[in-house]
Amino acid sequence: MDKGAFLEKAREGAELIKMHIELGHTIRLISHRDADGITAGAVLAKAIAREGGSFQLSIVKQASEDLVKELAREKHRIYVFSDLGSGAMSWIGSYLDDATVVVADHHPPEKEEFTNESHLLVNPVPFGANSVRDLSGSGVAYFVAREMNDKNRDLAYVAMVGSVGDMQEIDGTFHGMNLDIIEDGKGLGILEIRKELRLFGRESRPLRQMLAYATNPEIPGITGDERNAIQWLRAKGFDPDVHYWQLREEEKRKLHDALVIQMIKHNAPKESIDRLIGDVVVSPLYPEGDVRHEAREFSTLLNATGRLNAGTLGVAICLGDEEAYRKARKMLDDYKKEQVEARRFIIQNWNMADEGEHAYVFYAGRNIRDTLVGIAANMAINSGLVNPEKPVVVLADSDEDENLVKGSARTTERALAKGYHLGEALKYVAEKLGGEGGGHAIAAGIRFPKSKIDEFTRLFNRILGEQVSGGKTGGD
Ligand code: C5P
Ligand code: C5P
Ligand code: C5P
Ligand code: ZN
Repeated sequence: MDKGAFLEKAREGAELIKMHIELGHTIRLISHRDADGITAGAVLAKAIAREGGSFQLSIVKQASEDLVKELAREKHRIYVFSDLGSGAMSWIGSYLDDATVVVADHHPPEKEEFTNESHLLVNPVPFGANSVRDLSGSGVAYFVAREMNDKNRDLAYVAMVGSVGDMQEIDGTFHGMNLDIIEDGKGLGILEIRKELRLFGRESRPLRQMLAYATNPEIPGITGDERNAIQWLRAKGFDPDVHYWQLREEEKRKLHDALVIQMIKHNAPKESIDRLIGDVVVSPLYPEGDVRHEAREFSTLLNATGRLNAGTLGVAICLGDEEAYRKARKMLDDYKKEQVEARRFIIQNWNMADEGEHAYVFYAGRNIRDTLVGIAANMAINSGLVNPEKPVVVLADSDEDENLVKGSARTTERALAKGYHLGEALKYVAEKLGGEGGGHAIAAGIRFPKSKIDEFTRLFNRILGEQVSGGKTGGD
């Protein structure tokens, strides 16, 4: 990617924000509700406070037309969107035309630039970045913050927590401008990259649970059964109650070797084995055994706050609020429990999935919470239930409106190689069904009327078919 050109945009964004701070305007921040969005919001909030500015921050589900209209009624002079906004450029253009707008985001944008001169898109995708590998929303926010003040390099760890929350290192290593953030963090001694087990639970879970609840990747013969995990660990000479962080280096290596052999023995796909051990981000800013010490656990904690509509609590945690951390810590266990239940449900009921020529569509009704469908779709893929070259959509009844369903589509690099782009497909399908949808090539979301599930399934398969045959999405 063209880093120089991207950083130039980040600098322009930084200048606009600083100018409004100097004018005494409140900076209106709007960020996405997942770990990436929460950390992006925290990075910008901290950068603004550091310049002596004031801000008003909201953590939201998505940038819908209604949200943009509502924001316009607040009559702020400047709005800054992070980890969202690139799919709302035309609404921003229509409703916020009087205001200054900075969109600091990594989703594939509607267009490369805004037409309105006071609106600025800071997004690495038009400069050649892969939106799910090269930079997260928190990473974009980080570069804007770094351009505002070099001191903001101390936000590198928080930015990397967002990157891990978005699974930017899902193949086992970081890429693109994530590496620049890592260099900054290392330079200040606030983060380290270790080659370790890339599973949730390094700090807070005993080994038996870290392995039994592994879903990304799954460990065949162990995932889903804690008793198996205990037996297996004992047989290999490990105490099942010990935490990963407590192991000595040679014990870690021995565990890694035993796990890799277990996966090979069970014919796990190469891609899964490759990502079992890889880049793990830890920070000496927090003690070993603290959830915030490792980026995957930290990001899952933030996701847990976001999904309970407590995203601003997550922001407070990123800004160092100990009381907020203690409050949220309880949310994490419930959130992980719900993920385990979602996995059980999807595996037991997978025979209900509609397998079309190009996609699986699974409707979970109220059995999976609408905020967990993305994780559930990844679980279906990682459990080996599906052909990995066929995208998966999991749908659930919307928490907010009983007439709507929320869907998440997920797939693999191998499927993308055939030509699929889930974000473009869902954007198109949503327009046809009277809903809203969009996202990355490999991970995208949609909401649409529940009465249209059959139509959705037909249309989605058709669009994906057109994508692999080289046609333009929609074809009309
Ligand atoms: O909204 P946002 O960009 O922050 O979220 C990206 C989403 O894509 C996350 O839910 C992340 O887990 C998902 N993802 C995925 N597979 C990848 C990369 C990202 O499911 N390879
Ligand atoms: O995909 P999304 O960003 O919504 O994932 C939210 C959290 O759940 C992340 O911390 C991710 O690592 C975790 N996750 C998981 N198992 C999966 C998919 C995601 O533990 N199969
Ligand atoms: O909602 P879900 O986690 O499935 O979203 C996957 C990705 O698609 C996220 O990056 C999300 O921000 C994006 N998305 C979008 N527009 C939508 C719905 C989801 O850009 N309407
Ligand atoms: Zn993101």
